[in-house]
Amino acid sequence: MIDNLYYSRSNQIILPVDKIIDKLGRTFQTIRLSLLPVCNFQCIYCKVENEYSKTKIQKPEYFIDIIKKINKYIYIKKIHLTGGEPTLYPYLEEIVFALKSLGIPEVSITSNGTLLLKQLTNLKKAGLDSINLSLDALDNAILKKMGTKKSLEFYQTLIDEILKLNIPLKINSTIIRGYNENQILPLLEYAGKRNIPIRFLEYMKMGIDDKTHKKRFYSCKEILNQIQKYYKIYELTREKHSTAYYWITDTNYQFGIIANHSKPFCMDCDRLRIDSSGKIYGCITQDIGIPINPSDSDIQIQNKLKKALENKQLIFNGSNNKMHYIGG
Ligand code: SAM
Ligand code: SF4
Repeated sequence: MIDNLYYSRSNQIILPVDKIIDKLGRTFQTIRLSLLPVCNFQCIYCKVENEYSKTKIQKPEYFIDIIKKINKYIYIKKIHLTGGEPTLYPYLEEIVFALKSLGIPEVSITSNGTLLLKQLTNLKKAGLDSINLSLDALDNAILKKMGTKKSLEFYQTLIDEILKLNIPLKINSTIIRGYNENQILPLLEYAGKRNIPIRFLEYMKMGIDDKTHKKRFYSCKEILNQIQKYYKIYELTREKHSTAYYWITDTNYQFGIIANHSKPFCMDCDRLRIDSSGKIYGCITQDIGIPINPSDSDIQIQNKLKKALENKQLIFNGSNNKMHYIGG
């Protein structure tokens, strides 16, 4: 039961603890859980450090305990497992199984795919509901230039296998000027023909300087302009809390754009982020995470969630956080 009273030490009165909800009606329902901050890629837009041996890998129980604690105060409808690269996490199946056993309706993974092929069947058995695969190009030279270590042929095999296993799949493509803006149409066609929803991501200013970001930024408008040269497009109604705005082409290809800079979704963002050391963030722009400790009382957890919620913004203007720590 939620205890709705707390004792204020300063003025010695008992105050009601209100719900974890802000003035705009925003609360937390979707969690992005970064299982570890390291990766086996070095995407040019993410600049991850790869020091697996120096990284503290937490056991699933550690994360499950945190999720259980916060699940008492917020209704969690979805958990995205991310990183770094979540398929490097040695207890991935166990954590998926444990989260599903807790009754989390949707558990999904965002992955670069390299280690996913071998794990697919077991992850499905463990209860994994869906996969977001990051794939930025359909051209081996461009993939390599962007920091990917697998070939297009590998991705095609992986995608075929995911579809064969009937695991719902989305493709995420981060568009970087000078690297892969010429891949928007091929990616759209590839995904559209296979009925895979694709989302194009604007390059987010995360832990990088203004100049680099400006030079490499490719906007939502530019993405739409490219697509409209070849297709008639119709905007779909945006679902509440969705990070992406969606369109459909006259050929029935559905695509989304996650445009944090041009079309932010801050007004109804329902995300809570948890990093691999158990700190929570109410917003991707929150520089310092709030640690959840095993000994925290119910009141402390509620207050930490409220503090995290206070960090939600109205627009996204960039952040000093590194994407691989906060999980995207
Ligand atoms: N390693 C996994 C992967 O790449 O899918 C999960 C972590 S990664 C940080 C999550 C997502 O963030 C990926 O789709 C990646 O392309 C995207 N991403 C990373 N840095 C980004 C940036 N600066 N701007 C926009 N998207 C970014
Ligand atoms: Fe690794 Fe994902 Fe970052 Fe690429 S975007 S370096 S795959 S964490």
